[in-house]
Amino acid sequence: MTSLADLASADLSALRAAKRPLRRPGGAGQKARVRADALADMGISTVLDLLTHYPRRYLDRTTQTPIPELEAGTDATVLATVRRVQRLPARRGGRPVVVVDVSDGRGYLSLSFFNQPWRSQQLSEGMEVAVSGKVTRFRGRRQMANPSVEVVEGDWTGRVVPIYPQSEKAGISSMEIGACVDEALGRAGPLEDPVPAWVLDRHGLAPRDWSLRQAHRPGSLADAYTARRRLGFDELLRLQLLLVMRKRALEKGAVGIAQRVGSPLVEAFRARLAFPLTSAQQKAIAEIEADLAKPVPMHRLLQGDVGSGKTLVALWCLLNAVAGGYQGALMAPTEVLAEQHHLSLSAALAGLTLPDPESLLGERPVRVGLLTNQVSGAERARALGDLAQGKVDIVVGTHALLTEAVRFARLGLVVIDEQHRFGVEQRAALRAKADGVLPDVLVMTATPIPRTAAMTVYGDLDTTVLDELPPGRSPVRTVWARGPLEVDAAWEAVRQEVAAGHQAYVVCPLVEESERVQASSAREERDRLSEGPLRGLRLGLLHGQLPERDKEAVMAQFRAGQLDVLVATTVVEVGVDVPNATVIVIEDAERFGMAQLHQLRGRVGRGTARSSCFLLGEASTPEAAERLAALERTNDGFELAEVDLDLRGEGTILGTRQKGVSDLKLASLRRHRKYVALAREVAFEIVGDDPQLRRYPALAAELMALVDDDEREYLFKS
Ligand code: ADP
Ligand code: MG
Repeated sequence: MTSLADLASADLSALRAAKRPLRRPGGAGQKARVRADALADMGISTVLDLLTHYPRRYLDRTTQTPIPELEAGTDATVLATVRRVQRLPARRGGRPVVVVDVSDGRGYLSLSFFNQPWRSQQLSEGMEVAVSGKVTRFRGRRQMANPSVEVVEGDWTGRVVPIYPQSEKAGISSMEIGACVDEALGRAGPLEDPVPAWVLDRHGLAPRDWSLRQAHRPGSLADAYTARRRLGFDELLRLQLLLVMRKRALEKGAVGIAQRVGSPLVEAFRARLAFPLTSAQQKAIAEIEADLAKPVPMHRLLQGDVGSGKTLVALWCLLNAVAGGYQGALMAPTEVLAEQHHLSLSAALAGLTLPDPESLLGERPVRVGLLTNQVSGAERARALGDLAQGKVDIVVGTHALLTEAVRFARLGLVVIDEQHRFGVEQRAALRAKADGVLPDVLVMTATPIPRTAAMTVYGDLDTTVLDELPPGRSPVRTVWARGPLEVDAAWEAVRQEVAAGHQAYVVCPLVEESERVQASSAREERDRLSEGPLRGLRLGLLHGQLPERDKEAVMAQFRAGQLDVLVATTVVEVGVDVPNATVIVIEDAERFGMAQLHQLRGRVGRGTARSSCFLLGEASTPEAAERLAALERTNDGFELAEVDLDLRGEGTILGTRQKGVSDLKLASLRRHRKYVALAREVAFEIVGDDPQLRRYPALAAELMALVDDDEREYLFKS
């Protein structure tokens, strides 16, 4: 039996001349070399690469639309035979053109190739081809201009023809690839199936050997899809197995803290809250507390929509740690946010006390500290000293918390309020700050990310979802203001809200060049607005280049209602919380991403008053138009995250952050959401209490072959 690991290590030199010769000069050795070069150009260097170079599509000879029935204006693919190839000289000022007539026995189709003189060499009479392109009609004849052409030469007898993604440039045809695949499959012999039979039975998945063969040479279209379903599932399963194993490896041997939950401190905090917890918050807290109480370090993701009250949940958990005699750290992505968290935490905790036998009264207040890069000199030295001596219970900070110099006395819980800015490495760095015993870690996302993406990007974390907003919030009315009249209406709305005693944000167009340019354009915009549409209102300006003191001062003025309108760059993006602000105008909205716009919109609608959001500007791409329309349509961040995933594809969302995503050839996090969840479930079952897969050696061998040395060491040897 051949394993996937064998295929991954076998290079292509073993494949000698496949049956179909390449249309290149030279002897057999030369041909094989040319073929290997061509495959290498396409990134195919092992037998596994070749066998996972799956057909892009399949053509079923028996269900082809006959040429006479092709409709003008539609995209079509037809199998046909070349009848005539003509190379027409360029007309004066025109382009050289090759005209090829093809026929399927029912009718004729005329193909025109502009600026592709080599087509007259590539195609010749009698050749069978699959052509794809847009059908047009000219003088009663069906035509295609610059279609893509796959040569389906000679001995392809099957009913279903596989069409491989091929590189015209690499000089290898779809059928030549098919022939190489055939030969490789023939040599490989029967393939081992490492996935346990109970998984296949339960989910109706076909055997691997059959699937790999059918994916390349299907007996029918239905078989091809059954085969691809199985192979795609395997891709997702491998990815999830690695994630689950990584999760187990993190937990293994790690000594955590069994935190005491439900202390009088937390009760006192609850009693002082001005509002009851939402049931989603209660559920989330229960889940997190159960984790905190375990002696295993927690690694948990808290997902929730903008305004769902994640901060409160985080604070609750921090207090649990503090009540048990530990320190908590809250890390924010920006200084503005850290300052704000520090302010609001200090306010929320004012008056709360901890028992303290050393003090006269037998108790002392809960102490909150701040550590950002703005805290410097003696102040910084003192902050660091307090942290190291345990004189601070909760520290709020930015990346500065990660630097070497920061030492904790008894770090118990780290909350990371992240906006895709803290990576795995930072998480590890922070954890390393507690020597020996690992603190619990709670990661909060700023905006929701799709469930399937969360299972993958944060696949080594457990997930808690806050799926409910506090009561009394009315959804933010969102208007995409495209034309000048609508833009005027937006400024009018700002003036009205201010007249009614509310406040507004204006977010300036995103300028990519530099922070400095961004700042000056924000200044110009403030000037323009104060002389134009917002004349007479009290305007403040906030951008990243302002000294930290000025930023704080402006925010304080805005919070205190001394400013009507805050003209700002995206520094107000996350977390800024001024409930009296009821309108936000986002200029040149198409420049911002979906999550960013949703996050910005979340700056309003935080109180009970009705709020609105105006998205200004045209959309220059269909994608931008869909994004803005989606924001108009819904306030649900989870729904928007899904739309975003559809619009942008998985690559942009997942980036390179997750190994193994690039190995997804058939499976898509976007199109196969159900299978992602299924694979994760199965992965948990398989790994179970056997984190190195000793019970499934074939599966373990397969995974080992696919990961790099470090990962292999980490997952299988440790
Ligand atoms: P986010 O999830 O975006 O971080 P926040 O934690 O900033 O949301 O909460 C948004 C606002 O909702 C804050 O003003 C907070 O005080 C308020 N809030 C949080 N929980 C509740 C609740 N259970 N009932 C009413 N208001 C709440
Ligand atoms: Mg928040």
